[in-house]
Amino acid sequence: MTENIVISLIEKIIPKERVLRDEPMSAHTSFRIGGPADAVVLVNNEDELRTVLGTVNDMESEYMIMGNGSNFLVSDEGYPGIMVKLSGDFNSIGLDEENDDRIIVGGAKHLSGTSAFATDNGLAGMEFASGIPGSIGGALFMNAGAYGGEMKDIVETVRLMKPDGSAVINCDNKKMRFAYRHSILQENAYIVLSTILKLTKDDPRAIAERVSEIQKKRNSKQPVNLPSAGSTFKRPISGYAAALIDEAGLKGYRVGDAQVSEKHAGFVVNLGKATAEDVLTLMRYIQKTVFEKSEIILEPEVRLINCKL
Ligand SMILES: Cc1cc2nc3c(=O)[nH]c(=O)nc-3n(C[C@H](O)[C@H](O)[C@H](O)COP(=O)(O)OP(=O)(O)OC[C@H]3O[C@@H](n4cnc5c(N)ncnc54)[C@H](O)[C@@H]3O)c2cc1C
Repeated sequence: MTENIVISLIEKIIPKERVLRDEPMSAHTSFRIGGPADAVVLVNNEDELRTVLGTVNDMESEYMIMGNGSNFLVSDEGYPGIMVKLSGDFNSIGLDEENDDRIIVGGAKHLSGTSAFATDNGLAGMEFASGIPGSIGGALFMNAGAYGGEMKDIVETVRLMKPDGSAVINCDNKKMRFAYRHSILQENAYIVLSTILKLTKDDPRAIAERVSEIQKKRNSKQPVNLPSAGSTFKRPISGYAAALIDEAGLKGYRVGDAQVSEKHAGFVVNLGKATAEDVLTLMRYIQKTVFEKSEIILEPEVRLINCKL
């Protein structure tokens, strides 16, 4: 009931076609899994975001910010609240007019598009991100990384909005407290509006070659053609999650349509009709089996939305 009132209030601010009621989260996640959110609200600019955040906070309504949904496992029951998705102006990208080795990019922009823009402009340092299917906001939240690079290496400052929409601040790299798959955003829930990335000038052809090498590696090693949320578990203190899962004999192990990828044991893939419960049951089994074999506890990297292990 309260959610209905909140959604009606939001519809006074945001055009109805951008307020998707009872929206299946399976349509917004790379796993293609998840029941409905009360509403997915697409906000196109900072004013809209501020007003939506003000409304949900005033009404003490449940809400969450999402990027590209590529690190999400949403429960089969869905998300009982408002899922706010940055869109429109938040996809902006351009060179910093004062420093031509820097890119200013909006929170919703895809990493691949950002990496391609850097390549075209002869700016190196973002090659690692070319195949990560997330947005800038999600990548800063997670300190996404691959092939020896991570966001923490290239972020200069981040423009953030407070979770209640009451203020906008700039935060430098150090204050973001980046660590392995971690940033301060996981503690304070501030929202990434945009960021300035500091890169290095280089020959565009040399950058493009490195990007192509990384993409080749990714395509040959990862199950990029099947829905997933990337690495299911974080790298433990010793060893690699994928190697531990493989050594535990779990490659190809299946619960319903959720399967430990036969190509890369670090990924759980959706073979077609996997439910969140299938994935959770499989994740629990992986944790238990790996612990029994190696005494290592695997922690999930994928964000569990309205469900737990
Ligand atoms: C095939 C595949 C390969 C992958 N490879 C990699 C890889 O190599 N390296 C890697 O690190 N990850 C990888 N991932 C995981 C995923 O792409 C990253 O974690 C990515 O950074 C998530 O971004 P997103 O926009 O999809 O975030 P979402 O999944 O939408 O959200 C993740 C978290 O970020 C928060 N968030 C999103 N936007 C904002 C914002 N604007 N402000 C504040 N918080 C926000 C959300 O609230 C949520 O808690 C892979 C995933 C897939 C499916």
